[in-house]
Amino acid sequence: MEASEGPSNADTATPMTADSAGTGSRACVAFGCSGVSSVRDLVPELPSESGRTVIYEIAAIGGMPTFSDLSRAAYCPRQLYYARRDDDRGPPPEAEARQALAFRYDELREADDETLADLPIDSSPVDYRDALDRLSTRPDWQQLCEPTEQEYYVEGKDCHGLLHKLLAGDPPVPTVVSPGEPPEQGVWEPQSVRAVAAANALAWERQREIPRALVEYPAVGIVREVELTCRRTAAYRRVLRTVRSMDGPPPRVDDSRCESCEYRTECGVKTRSLRSLLGF
Ligand code: SF4
Repeated sequence: MEASEGPSNADTATPMTADSAGTGSRACVAFGCSGVSSVRDLVPELPSESGRTVIYEIAAIGGMPTFSDLSRAAYCPRQLYYARRDDDRGPPPEAEARQALAFRYDELREADDETLADLPIDSSPVDYRDALDRLSTRPDWQQLCEPTEQEYYVEGKDCHGLLHKLLAGDPPVPTVVSPGEPPEQGVWEPQSVRAVAAANALAWERQREIPRALVEYPAVGIVREVELTCRRTAAYRRVLRTVRSMDGPPPRVDDSRCESCEYRTECGVKTRSLRSLLGF
């Protein structure tokens, strides 16, 4: 049972090197770059429709996957294959606009109906303000509104990427901001894998245990806890092994996940709904 599993960051057992300190020096070596002082120099920054600057995760460094790679592979390894082939990085604008809400909680809690009606929230203005009111009772509310870091790049032993927020604390808490809605309980598997990856990479950088992360769903004003249980860590390691062993397109999952997949046409899946439409 998950409740009886203790948190762990196995990666913290290995000593940190200069290259793992988050300075990006290994990235420069991997890319053969000269005159690059920080990995930030290699990360594309683009103004977004929401007015924030979006920093996209760079592609795998020396074969080390990004948090987004692992999250995609947890959904469907074949989707990651297509995304890498097309160099498809970063969220689409509509997803980014929903993620941007996570950086305006304080302001949106006081916003009027007209303002909220223009935003990509998934509830009525009244319900949304109520959700933010509930969120404000969390002990880490102030940190959620004013994180120590935003879009913080971190490089671990096995993966690297951006923490959407880093909350102050002892230990600090990384967060993953999802553009979607949560399941009834807990978080979706791809977000769990990303949260574990983020916590492990931060643990490697800080050389200390990071036992938990958060997943934020700002379009509905909900934040969920992700403890690094044995079950979650095992799922993360399974996905990591899958990504490392990818050599050509992985098998199709061919289930309900395909219905909302942007690659379904070229992937050529026949989902159950299509089959039933065709009378198979
Ligand atoms: S259509 Fe289905 S099998 Fe193909 S990439 Fe998408 S989720 Fe994976």
